[in-house]
Amino acid sequence: SYEGPSAEEVLALRKEFLNPAIFHYYKKPIMVVEGKGQYLFDETGRRYLDGFGGIVTVSVGHCHPQVMAAANGQNERIQHTTTIYLHPNIALYAKELAAKMPGDLKVVYFVNSGSEANDLAMLMARAYTGNYDLIALRNAYHGGSPASMALTSHHTWKFNVPHGFGVQHAQMPDMYRGPFGIDDAEAGRKYAEDVQSLIRFGTSGKVAAFFAESIQGVGGTVVFPEGYLKHAYEHVRAAGGLCVADEVQAGVGRAGTHYWGFETQGGMPEIVTMAKGIGNGCPLAAVVTTPEIAKVLASRIHFNTFGGNPVSCAQGRAVLEVIEREGLQENSLRVGAQLKEGFLKLAEKHDLIGDVRGMGLMLGVELVKDRKTKEPASAECAQVFETCKELGLLIGKGGLNGNVLRIKPPMCLTGEDADFLIGTLDVALGGI
Ligand code: PMP
Repeated sequence: SYEGPSAEEVLALRKEFLNPAIFHYYKKPIMVVEGKGQYLFDETGRRYLDGFGGIVTVSVGHCHPQVMAAANGQNERIQHTTTIYLHPNIALYAKELAAKMPGDLKVVYFVNSGSEANDLAMLMARAYTGNYDLIALRNAYHGGSPASMALTSHHTWKFNVPHGFGVQHAQMPDMYRGPFGIDDAEAGRKYAEDVQSLIRFGTSGKVAAFFAESIQGVGGTVVFPEGYLKHAYEHVRAAGGLCVADEVQAGVGRAGTHYWGFETQGGMPEIVTMAKGIGNGCPLAAVVTTPEIAKVLASRIHFNTFGGNPVSCAQGRAVLEVIEREGLQENSLRVGAQLKEGFLKLAEKHDLIGDVRGMGLMLGVELVKDRKTKEPASAECAQVFETCKELGLLIGKGGLNGNVLRIKPPMCLTGEDADFLIGTLDVALGGI
């Protein structure tokens, strides 16, 4: 049983001693002291279904026995020396990760967070192409470091200081709110034209790279129209740029039909960044690229003290193995489809639901006050979110207007959990 400080005491400590910019979910925040699989437990032993995987950082489930054993075993042998000495874990993990990548994406750089991975991808693309303009998408989140903050495209995450230079944002390919109809079969190509237009009007005509999340996460689970990335990539390549897929949220099987989110879009990036779920809770991130592009950073020393440390790599290797052995990509596809179908049924009953979208276990439910005007139902969304917590379900919230419920549970979610999740959401929506 739990014997530490109470949630109130911890909240008071946070207020006094911690970065005041960190925020907590819920009016009365919960304190999570244990996790097992898809469940979280507070200090009183109350169980919650984790529908958000700690912002998608937990892919195979909390404290998975095999993942824990790999990390604990490594912790007891040697924790770290950096890459100045050889260690098998980093080499074996790089090989195993490369084996999961299509095409010529075979060389891995290890870092510790998604922001660092995107920083490195920016550096790599600029050094390789000799160009400096970068294109990202409106509504994107790629990090909070001074450089990656420039790629991020929500005013709420951007400080009013000079941050990374040379980034411009193309139109958000949002089928629900964008100008092209939700059923427009040509929408992918049409939205991608804005990338070309931005290159022609906003740059010298040459760009270093184009960054896109394969499914926008923080922005409220925005799934691009079919073929969007493929078309956008063509425009970027014609301008001498590299294409970067940010798989920090959508990767390692979560999208269900494919292992990587970009594969659902028919495009092939030159650089892939990943973090969060690849470590299942430990600080582990990576940039994967082609041997030719990778060479460029060898013209100087590139070094990262904790990148590729033996403990994180042991954990990363175990995560890849568990996803495979337990068929978690297939589970994401199956249980994700069950959830989506359930949400679509809820939409028949609750007018508040404007849109249901997502792939696999990366789903979003957008709430609106009026289906015609699509006015964001932000306050209602906050209330649904609170009620779900009261009923034992934790989910996420996103979108610039905070009106999208984000459902991204650990990929071991069962059909029964999905029924509970749908039922709980039904009750919460009914209470509005
Ligand atoms: N890319 C995406 C798509 C993300 O969702 C995030 C984090 N929310 C990041 C990058 C940045 O990752 P980190 O917080 O580990 O720096």
